[in-house]
Amino acid sequence: MKSHYDFLIVGTGLYGAVFAHEAMKRGLSVLMLEKRAHIGGNVYTEEKDGITIHKYGAHIFHTSDKVIWGYVTNLVPFHPFINSPIANYKGHIYNMPFNMNTFARMWDISTPDEAKRIISEQRGEIKAEPGNLEEQAISLVGRDIYETLIKGYTEKQWGRPCSELPPEIIRRLPVRFTYDNNYFSDIYQGIPDDGYTSLIEKLVDGADIILSVDYLPDRVKWDALSERTLYTGPLDALYGYSKGKLEYRSEIFEEIRVERENFQGNAVVNYTDRETPWTRIIEHKHFAPCSSPVTWISREYPVSYEETGEPFYPVGDERNRSLYKEYRALADKEPRLIIGGRLADYAYYDMDKTIKAALNAASLL
Ligand code: UDP
Repeated sequence: MKSHYDFLIVGTGLYGAVFAHEAMKRGLSVLMLEKRAHIGGNVYTEEKDGITIHKYGAHIFHTSDKVIWGYVTNLVPFHPFINSPIANYKGHIYNMPFNMNTFARMWDISTPDEAKRIISEQRGEIKAEPGNLEEQAISLVGRDIYETLIKGYTEKQWGRPCSELPPEIIRRLPVRFTYDNNYFSDIYQGIPDDGYTSLIEKLVDGADIILSVDYLPDRVKWDALSERTLYTGPLDALYGYSKGKLEYRSEIFEEIRVERENFQGNAVVNYTDRETPWTRIIEHKHFAPCSSPVTWISREYPVSYEETGEPFYPVGDERNRSLYKEYRALADKEPRLIIGGRLADYAYYDMDKTIKAALNAASLL
């Protein structure tokens, strides 16, 4: 450890790691602090029984940006992976995202015209511009699909009624009138061969890293070690919650080793009914070619932020957005401070957007 650094980076997730890499490329010295006992934030992966475990939920890298794809694949090898989740509604199986396979199973039809006719009939109940997630969903795919594949899942995920959620959340999902189960519409899709931890390790190579340390209680002490600070944690915590708490949704992952070769036949199965307490089960071995005789699964339970103290998804409603702006204004007044990443930007970023934002910030160095 040195006595002084050009940059203190708080958080070793994807944003912090890319920024660190870029800073070091420019000859700057970097000290990184991490609250958890490992690097990588929520993309962290770990090997068990020869299987790469996505410890904080499924991460499939997808982008249409050639530069970003080149950036990550130059660092570590990736294998192609097309995400084709299955939805399980009370034991009935449907393909995701919403496409002709889904519509054919739902309505016993076979052509795009038939599907469009049914959806257009069902969407008739929404007269104006959709003002919430429920209206947006019905207007995209009709009430049958909303009730079967969206309502229960979404209400479990966000812990509130679809009528009180913003429409943008559901616009992340494609609706296709082809028999195409590819969840993402991006050109480039894949997963690092040796897991995301290998990617993060490459990015932070050369930085000094201290794990299991909380920056906030000793902010002054840590800042004194560097010229500037990049903070990637929640902004309300940075300012002692002085203007109120930002809301997040959290997750608990129940990891189970199953003495069976194949548990569910797919990497991701969504449980879209209201009664099943988890939203998803991921079976890690299906993310990569693997010959293990056993398997590992993770059940994903959405829970309140209060329950875990771990912020995952920002709740992007009006109150939270305007509260965030107040905190952002405070951060903008601190010349030595840079903030960024999913938590500090209070944004529902995918990984490629996170990397892009970090590259943009680093280009100003
Ligand atoms: N969603 C749904 N049913 C599903 C999967 C997703 O209704 O089977 C909705 C839900 O509202 C969710 C949103 O789509 O919050 C975005 O899903 P995505 O899979 O993009 O979420 P993430 O993987 O980021 O958790």
